[in-house]
Amino acid sequence: MSLLITHYMSEITTYLGYKLVKNKIYKSLFLGISTAIAATASYALITPENLDSKSTTPPLTTPAIQPTYTSVSINNPTITSINPKPIIVPPISLAPSKPKLKILTHTIKKGESLSIIFSKLKLKKIDLLDLIEAQGNKKQFESIYPNREIIAHIDSDNKLQELIYKKSSTNLITATRSNNTFSIEVVSEPIEKRITSIQTTIKSSLFVDGKKAGFTDKLLMQLSDIFGWDIDFALNLRKNDKITVVYEKLFAGGKEVGTGNILSAEFINQGQPFTAVRFENNEGDSGYFTPEGKSMQKAFLRTPVNFSRISSHFNLKRKHPVLNKIRAHRGVDYAAKTGTAIKTTGNGKIIFRGKKRGYGRVIIVQHGKKYSTLYAHLSKFRKGQKVGSRVKQGQIIGYVGQSGLATGPHLHYEFLVNGTHKNPLTVDLPHARPVKKALLAEFKQQTQPYIAQLNKTIATTLLAKSN
Ligand SMILES: [Zn+2]
Repeated sequence: MSLLITHYMSEITTYLGYKLVKNKIYKSLFLGISTAIAATASYALITPENLDSKSTTPPLTTPAIQPTYTSVSINNPTITSINPKPIIVPPISLAPSKPKLKILTHTIKKGESLSIIFSKLKLKKIDLLDLIEAQGNKKQFESIYPNREIIAHIDSDNKLQELIYKKSSTNLITATRSNNTFSIEVVSEPIEKRITSIQTTIKSSLFVDGKKAGFTDKLLMQLSDIFGWDIDFALNLRKNDKITVVYEKLFAGGKEVGTGNILSAEFINQGQPFTAVRFENNEGDSGYFTPEGKSMQKAFLRTPVNFSRISSHFNLKRKHPVLNKIRAHRGVDYAAKTGTAIKTTGNGKIIFRGKKRGYGRVIIVQHGKKYSTLYAHLSKFRKGQKVGSRVKQGQIIGYVGQSGLATGPHLHYEFLVNGTHKNPLTVDLPHARPVKKALLAEFKQQTQPYIAQLNKTIATTLLAKSN
C-alpha cells in the first residue's frame, strides 16, 4: 500500500516537474517577445498564427533589441597607458567598416546617471573616476538628460578613449583621453550628415549579425519600427534574411557622433522583399513608405493586447466550451491576466459600450465606413470614454476580464469588413494613409536618390559575392 502511494507520489512529482519546466520555457518565450515588444514601440504586432508552433523552421532567436553591449573584453585590468592610440574616424564605404576603436552608442534613459551608463556599457570604473576628476568643478557630464545620446569610443583593451555627450544637435561635450586623464571640450559645431550604406545577412540572429556588420542599436530599433508592421521581429526572422540599409552617419568636427535617419532599406524576409523609403513633407512630418508611396504602417494593429497565448482561434464550426454545442467562433481569444490593458487597433469612434449577453462588457469601434472591431469580456471600461468618443490606434479602451460567458480571463476580439467577420490573425490589413497625390512628384524626387543608393549597394554586394 505504502509502496503504491510512494510510486503514485513520484509520478505526480515527475508530472509536476515536467509541467514546471514546460511552463518555464513557455514563460521565457513570451518574456522574450514582450521585451521585444516593449523595445520596439509600436508593436502590438505579433503575428500570432506563428505562436501555434506549426511552422517547420524554428524561428531564430532574436534577442530583444535592448541595448546589451556585446563582446567588450573586461579581462584586461592594465590601467597604465603611455601612448594612447589616436582616434581613428572609420572610413565611409559601402562595405561595413571595421574601425580600430569600437563605438558604443547609448540613448540615455530616465534616471540614468553617468555611472549607471558606464556599467551598462561595461566601461571601466577607473575611466569613470578619471573622467569625474578631469571635469573638476564644471561637472559637464553630470547634467545629462534622457533621450540624448552618449557615444563611447573604446580601444581593444576596453579602455575609454573618447566620450561624447550629444547635448543638442549642435552642442557636444567631448572628453578625449590624453595619458591618464581626459581633456574636456564643449564643441558647438553643426552636425554633418554623411549618407552611407550597410548590409547584413542573418546567420544566427539579427542582433548578432547586425552588430557584426556595424549596425548600431538605434539602427536596429529603427528597422523594427519601419518593418515591424509586415515582419514580426520576435518570431518571423529566418536564417539568410538579408537587410540592406542606407542611412545618415553623423559627424561633428570630423568625429563620428552616431547615426541619424534611415533613408531607405530593403528587408528580404523568408525570400519576400520589403522596401521602405523615408519621406519628409514640407511641414517637416516624416514617415516611411513603399517606393510607390504607400505607407509602411497599417491602419490597424494586428493585436489589441499583450497576451500570454491564443486560447481560441477563429473557427466557424467550434464547439463552445461553456454551451457545449457547435457555435461559430467569429473572433480570436487572447488569454491575458485580468486588468491587462486593451488597445483599440485603429483610429475610429466607439459605437457601443455596455453589456451584451454572452459577450459581457463589450466595446465596438467603427473605423470609417468599412471596418469595425469588437472587444469582449472586459472587466471594466476605460474611464472618460463613452459612445461617440473618438479613439486613436493604440489607445486604451478597457481591461481584460471574464464578464459574460467565459471560462477564464481573456479578450475576445472580432474584426469585421463590411459587416462580415474576418479572421483577425490573417485578414489583409489596409495600409495607413499613403503619400497625398499632390505630393507624389515631390515624393519621387526626394526618394529617388535613396532608392538608387539602396539598389547600388545591393548590386555591389551581389557582384562582390559572385566574384
Ligand atoms: Zn471568443
